Amino acid sequence: MSERPKRVLIVGLGGLGCPVAAILARASGVELWLCDDDEVDVTNLHRQILYRDADVGTDKLGAAQKALILGGLEPSRIVPQRTRLLPDNARQLVSEVDLVVEGADNFATKFLAADAAHLVGRPIVHGAAVRFVGTAWAVAAEGAPCYRCWFEDVPPGAQQGCTEAGVMGPVVGFCGALMADLALRVLAGDASAFGSLYTYDGQTDRLRQVPAAARPGCALCGSSPSIADIIESRYTTPSCAA
Ligand SMILES: [Zn+2]
Repeated sequence: MSERPKRVLIVGLGGLGCPVAAILARASGVELWLCDDDEVDVTNLHRQILYRDADVGTDKLGAAQKALILGGLEPSRIVPQRTRLLPDNARQLVSEVDLVVEGADNFATKFLAADAAHLVGRPIVHGAAVRFVGTAWAVAAEGAPCYRCWFEDVPPGAQQGCTEAGVMGPVVGFCGALMADLALRVLAGDASAFGSLYTYDGQTDRLRQVPAAARPGCALCGSSPSIADIIESRYTTPSCAA
């Protein structure tokens, strides 16, 4: 009896989600759960590689499906979710998949994805890119070190994102490819995929691998966690990060 495909939820079909989807579509045994409710914008075409000029103004979900199927992906391996990841659907969506890959463009969604993955017990690959710098890292299903270990204390004013700061298309592409690499390693059971934060600097072409340590006082994965459920008011940080 054949094993069912591994389900990967891709949160956000922007500059990071596009290359992640394009690469994972070529991997055998992977089912892509695509989550987005946004439209293709002409100013984003340089980094959102699944879309063409003719897609501007149409929904990203439909345009991405069209591009992936044209590229050879069987339609049955796509599960479209025409929504944002929201406090009222995050747990359910995440619980249905084997892995979450989060390339969201705002901190609220990143924290929400991190919390849902931790609470449900799923691994998650995070990615972000601003200006010349991109980051990618994977958090194990066991959940530590987690996204909040690193970013819980970043003041909102310091969370400058791509909308305000801009981002280099190649940096996003590189970072998305790195996220896809981590995703495939996680799906293959490679434990070495976890525990490191990768940072790519597009001005020096330097890739750094920094060991990520868990923070004992972390609200999500620490010894006395205060986050035990998804509460909407927790996800209001406004800034952007991809
Ligand atoms: Zn943590």
